[in-house]
Amino acid sequence: MNDEEEQFMRPRVYSCCKCRNQVCLHDDIISKDFQGRHGRAFLLSHSMNIDVGQKEDRQLMTGLHTVADIYCSDCREVLGWKYERAYEETQKYKEGKYILEKAKIIRDNW
Ligand SMILES: [Zn+2]
Repeated sequence: MNDEEEQFMRPRVYSCCKCRNQVCLHDDIISKDFQGRHGRAFLLSHSMNIDVGQKEDRQLMTGLHTVADIYCSDCREVLGWKYERAYEETQKYKEGKYILEKAKIIRDNW
C-alpha cells in the first residue's frame, strides 16, 4: 500500500482538545467559515461521541435560532452547539447540523 492509499483508507478525525475523544470526521465538514464563541468554527453534518444539552433560543449574528450546546461525552467540555431550528428562511440549511469550535478540537494524527 502506498502513502496515498493509506491516507484514503484512514478517515481524518478531529478529537476533543481536552481528552482526545474522537468527535467528528473531516469529511463531514460543510463549512470552515463559521463564527463560534472562541473564534473560527466548523459547520458539520454529523458529530459523534457528544451529548446534546438543553435547547434554547439564541440571537446569533444571522438571526434567531433554537440551539443546544454540545458536550464531549467523555470530559463534558463544551465543544460547540447544534442548530435545532432556524427561523430565517435563508438559514434553514443549518437545522440539524453542528458547530464545533476550532479552538476546542484537534486533528487526530494527520
Ligand atoms: Zn473531551
